[in-house]
Amino acid sequence: PPPPRGGPQVTAKDVALANEFFDHFLNATSLRNILGYYRSICDLLNLKPNLFPLFYPKLRGYLKHWRANALWKKFDARAAHKCYGKGKLCANSRVLIIGAGPCGLRTAIEAQLLGAKVVVIEKRDRLSRNNVLHLWPFVIEDLRALGAKKFFGKFCAGAIDHISIRQLQCILLKVVLLLGVEVHTEVSFERLVEPDPVSKTGWRAEFTPSLHPVSQYEFDVVIGADGKRNTLQGFKRKEFRGKLAIAITANFINKRTEAEARVEEISGVAFIFNQKFFKDLYEATGIDLENIVYYKDDTHYFVMTAKKSSLIDKGVIKQDLMDTERLLATENVNREALMDYAREAANFSTNYQMPDVEFAVNHYGQPDVAMFDFTSMYAAENASKVVERNGFRLLMILVGDSLLEPFWPTGSGCARGFLSSLDAAWAIRSWCSGTMTPLDVLAERESIYRLLAQTTPDNLNKEWKSYTLDPATRYPNLNKNVVLPLQTTALFDSDDPR
Ligand code: FAD
Repeated sequence: PPPPRGGPQVTAKDVALANEFFDHFLNATSLRNILGYYRSICDLLNLKPNLFPLFYPKLRGYLKHWRANALWKKFDARAAHKCYGKGKLCANSRVLIIGAGPCGLRTAIEAQLLGAKVVVIEKRDRLSRNNVLHLWPFVIEDLRALGAKKFFGKFCAGAIDHISIRQLQCILLKVVLLLGVEVHTEVSFERLVEPDPVSKTGWRAEFTPSLHPVSQYEFDVVIGADGKRNTLQGFKRKEFRGKLAIAITANFINKRTEAEARVEEISGVAFIFNQKFFKDLYEATGIDLENIVYYKDDTHYFVMTAKKSSLIDKGVIKQDLMDTERLLATENVNREALMDYAREAANFSTNYQMPDVEFAVNHYGQPDVAMFDFTSMYAAENASKVVERNGFRLLMILVGDSLLEPFWPTGSGCARGFLSSLDAAWAIRSWCSGTMTPLDVLAERESIYRLLAQTTPDNLNKEWKSYTLDPATRYPNLNKNVVLPLQTTALFDSDDPR
């Protein structure tokens, strides 16, 4: 992309070039290119990410590319929904979203459509996760409505109901940018900074690098969307301890040959009950699994739950230790043996139809195989909190894996994560309404959170097209008053004695 032009005049040549870049932006598959083309388009058109009503109509007016028109139609239809109040309902709110994973980006879209000033920060410099997510039907419908197919033509074609995390992030990032959200990468959230009574500045945050301009921004809402290691302080977690569960993920290069095209996928739900397969696998290879899922996507993706004894017998785990953290620590795992184990399981379960499979590379340039412990799973005790200091209130909400950790082999993470994103946006809407007290907002959010862990594709409303951020459109037996405002006083931390 050329250097920024600047200046107040946008010439016909600038507009033509911006339209050309838009095509590249739509096709871009790396974080660097997506952001690079986006910035070039904004520079040429003299635009800066801003509130939805101040940014989107201008961008839309300039970009008349046929692919753009198809997208604008989708975005217009969504933004026109009455729940967003013409993109002005939250015009006075400033929302910080920590993490550009699928759930942070999905929340950013809703907050932006509500009219808030939205800033997303992401610590990574690349979108590099090959792993593949199973998508519940409502998620597919949701992404289609956001124009997923316009960005990625192969999105859920035919009976496909999965997508790589990297591709999903690409799609959502492009939507977020086109709506006017401000995105900063290679910026890591460290902690919140309390409002200053002398200078009367509101809630801010500390980041790495410390001198980044976002450290000067003030916020009234902060969304913790930074995944399972949640860095937003003040949320207690519940632990669910189950029997020892060790999951292995492996990604192999999809060379898209005819032989590969013929190999059938393995859907986890059906396979969990196929005892004969697991017995045969054990007898033939010594690999003992509880389940296995295979999706043919950008990569050949396998996720399986393996029994500890077979991992020890096959030399993957060097020493049997009681403590699972130490059991799966790098120094106790033979990586070569792990690669062989995953390759053998993949080959057997696909009838040796892909004999020369090669590992794809991960974020670190290494063969993409990993082993995780799911013996303990975590969920936040509560989804929201309000902190008030020196007259400034901050609404804090967790979404996605930060809120409820998913068990990967069932692939529920993204679906429940998206529900939590929509619920978080509903709470932001209530927060901005001016008619609800902080305790009312917290009580409503916590009541809705009680439903999340029980959700399945079957017990959600089947009218997927009618889903909005209003939880009543999604949860059939919704009771927004299960938790009463008085029960949430512990979640409202205020220095105001009143
Ligand atoms: P994430 O996708 O984890 O995104 C969190 C984002 O926050 C990341 O981009 C991270 O870089 C960023 N971040 C973290 N800390 C900070 C910080 N301090 N400041 C700024 N940014 C920060 N689910 C499956 O069903 N199957 C799988 O095989 C599978 N594999 C996975 C592999 C990995 C390595 C990870 C991390 C998750 C995996 N998941 C898998 C879970 C799945 O990705 C999530 O359920 C889904 O992406 C929704 O998560 P999220 O957006 O809440 O969080």
